[in-house]
Amino acid sequence: MATDKGQVEQRDTFGGEESVYEMALQQFDEAAEALGLKQGIAEYLRRPQRELTVNFPVRMDGGEIRIFTGYRVQHNLARGPAKGGIRYHPLVSLDEVRALAMWMTWKCAVTDIPYGGAKGGVTFDPKPMSQSELERLTRRYASEISVFIGPEKDIPAPDVNTNPQVMAWIMDTYSMHQGYSVPGVVTGKPVEIGGSLGRLDATGRGCMIVAAKELARKGKSLEGATVAVQGLGNVGYHAARLLESQGCRIVAVTDSSGGCYSDPGVAPGLDLEKLRDWKARGMPLIECPGVDCITNDELLAMPCDILVLAALEGQITSHNAASVRAGTIIEGANGPITPGADAILEDMGVQVVPDILANAGGVVTSYFEWIQGLQHDFWDQQEVEQRLEKIMSKAFEQVVAMSQDKKITMRKAALLLGISKVVRAIELRGIYP
Ligand code: NAD
Repeated sequence: MATDKGQVEQRDTFGGEESVYEMALQQFDEAAEALGLKQGIAEYLRRPQRELTVNFPVRMDGGEIRIFTGYRVQHNLARGPAKGGIRYHPLVSLDEVRALAMWMTWKCAVTDIPYGGAKGGVTFDPKPMSQSELERLTRRYASEISVFIGPEKDIPAPDVNTNPQVMAWIMDTYSMHQGYSVPGVVTGKPVEIGGSLGRLDATGRGCMIVAAKELARKGKSLEGATVAVQGLGNVGYHAARLLESQGCRIVAVTDSSGGCYSDPGVAPGLDLEKLRDWKARGMPLIECPGVDCITNDELLAMPCDILVLAALEGQITSHNAASVRAGTIIEGANGPITPGADAILEDMGVQVVPDILANAGGVVTSYFEWIQGLQHDFWDQQEVEQRLEKIMSKAFEQVVAMSQDKKITMRKAALLLGISKVVRAIELRGIYP
């Protein structure tokens, strides 16, 4: 199926490869062809169902007014209300949000949770902003998208550079508009206002669960496995911490500045808590005292058993894929490997556990938060973790079974599984009117 280039706006590509939206469309087109989807259904699924662009003013601390642009895209609602994070980053674009929304649709279907896919974002760099500026921006953005979101319609959650505090501001803003508290409008909230225990580290926990299952499939265990993590944020830090708790040795971590490493042959590996405390002070990892520094390119080429990609899209491309020396890659981030790189890694025998499976722990636990909130009945941490393990394990096994049965990569298997469940929902519901 030809890519509809007219639908894709211009933005930076990854070293001359596809833009993130072109990546998502290429993956979809290949899966649609493999599934033999009818053209009408394929055309329906390759376009987002609804898109909202908002331009809005924010008063800065100095009194001046700045105009910001934000988005909310709902890719598909066939399996339930829309669900997906909100990203604050200078590279946020409508195309990026479209791609991330599409991946959310497949992710919710792969894990069998009753949501469609959505994503949102605002194009700016939050780092130089004060907390009060961030709060005013968040509240205004939430007001602008309030026509789109709601506990039965579209439920945002944290993503890059957003966190429980940002979710609390969105929840409060939406509630003020309604005139009563509506905790179900977002997930990833602080526990004190209806968040779920276990949500903060859920995406990292999901990464740990699939890493353990992938190694077990090869007759190995996490005990003693060496791990490199790109992106020491929410997903990367918790994945590293939980992998370490299972006996792994963390040999390298980075953030956008670069990072640090320890000799893979020497225990105990990096001191994660020291690095986290340093980051919590707003300091770049590369400036952390007493560590051996590495660049992101060097991290991606580190010899290790498990490479966790937990930063942004397009990190491994056809230009650097051949330098990868990890046995297994866990995609904590969305879209970190381009299709060109995928083919090279497959030839090299590097096993990739794909994003729409590997990082689904976040949205699964968001689902738990949503149902706990709707029922006003909250579970203990153990129950959340057990339910997460059950859902992640089932999804992992279904993806592996399809990949073995059809002799295809785990990414292709996950896409076929997710897309076919969405198609089935559309068939059952029928085309309105
Ligand atoms: P975050 O903002 O908490 O952390 C992102 C980290 O990546 C930061 O440490 C940042 O410095 C680092 N980073 C940015 N660019 C980098 C680069 N080029 N090289 C190395 N590091 C870089 O964000 P997060 O919530 O942890 O999200 C990370 C990824 O995981 C994103 O792709 C996101 O969409 C995906 N994800 C997040 C969740 C979630 O629950 N938060 C769920 C599923 C998927």
